[in-house]
Amino acid sequence: MTDTIKTDVLIVGAGPVGLFAVFELGLFDMKCHLIDILDRPGGQCAELYPEKPIYDIPGWPSISAQGLVDKLLEQIAPFKPEFTYNRMVSSLEKLDDGGFRVITDENEVFEAKVVVIAAGGGSFQPKRPPIPGIEAYEGKSVFYSVRRMEDFRGHDIVIVGGGDSALDWTLNLQQVAKSVTLVHRRPEFRAAPDSVNKMYAMQERKELAFQVGQVTGLTGADGLLSSATIKGPDGDVEVACTRMLPFFGLTMKLGPIADWGLNLHENLIPVDTEKFQTSVPGIFAVGDINWYPGKLKLILSGFHEVALMAQAAKRIISPGERIVFQYTTSSTSLQKKLGVHD
Ligand SMILES: Cc1cc2nc3c(=O)[nH]c(=O)nc-3n(C[C@H](O)[C@H](O)[C@H](O)COP(=O)(O)OP(=O)(O)OC[C@H]3O[C@@H](n4cnc5c(N)ncnc54)[C@H](O)[C@@H]3O)c2cc1C
Repeated sequence: MTDTIKTDVLIVGAGPVGLFAVFELGLFDMKCHLIDILDRPGGQCAELYPEKPIYDIPGWPSISAQGLVDKLLEQIAPFKPEFTYNRMVSSLEKLDDGGFRVITDENEVFEAKVVVIAAGGGSFQPKRPPIPGIEAYEGKSVFYSVRRMEDFRGHDIVIVGGGDSALDWTLNLQQVAKSVTLVHRRPEFRAAPDSVNKMYAMQERKELAFQVGQVTGLTGADGLLSSATIKGPDGDVEVACTRMLPFFGLTMKLGPIADWGLNLHENLIPVDTEKFQTSVPGIFAVGDINWYPGKLKLILSGFHEVALMAQAAKRIISPGERIVFQYTTSSTSLQKKLGVHD
């Protein structure tokens, strides 16, 4: 276990709603730390539709999903939020002092006075390819993401898939691997053309291999892979490998949130509409993950929810302190926090 990281508010999920929560909490002087499974902020906006225009964000007749995420990051920058990416919050427990301990899948420990669950549709989880017996190799030889390139140094790696992740990691890991074989069912790719061209150029120079086909079997013992069988246009090919990285896209699942002792309603977290608090005082749920009568899964609904949640969170963190309602337009104290007034 690493040293405990302490913060006022721990936000599970750095989607648009988790990001805007930082702003509303920041106006009340609460420090935030956000944790996300993905390797960057933006949730569904960044992962599922970054280039699509959104037409129902107030004040923006049209803004791309990634553009909205970039603007949110700019808006919350004065509050200096901290981010931990590539980590899934796996457990959440209440402490005797009323706060919470949160632990990630890499065993980092966080303690916070308030927890805000902004986990959207749940955790993005990799799709498992239909290869018999693959489960036995997962976590030892088969990985669905690259957390540290060093872990792949000197290995014979098979990378499976035709999208950006497969191509990007083929190009990057080639620099540290003993060998890289990219496997895709056809010679056309969904990835950026520039990456595809680079891959074919490297194949020409025999710096990596590209094999058309599908992985149909794995050989090894005790979770340690020694080869993969690839069914190609000319029959089966056996490729020596000690690591495999399948990139078959992501699905959204509720994931570990189901085990945090919260009441659930059809895989969503019921909240009140005054504070957006869950069945456990001090744990709030905002954005797509929550449920209440009339809930609309819209970004603007999440933005409204975090404004009310922040007031309730302040009452927990600073009990007895009077909460003054202020406009950012006219409050010099809020403007100082935003860095727009001396
Ligand atoms: C194609 C498409 C088009 C859309 N168009 C519109 C539109 O025009 N207007 C509109 O208002 N809405 C639109 N939406 C819906 C909108 O994107 C969602 O309402 C919004 O993303 C919800 O934001 P969120 O922050 O609640 O959750 P999300 O964006 O889902 O973010 C949640 C984050 O939490 C992380 N997470 C989950 N569980 C954990 C865990 N255990 N540990 C760590 N991290 C975790 C996830 O990785 C994710 O990054 C659209 C959605 C899609 C798919």
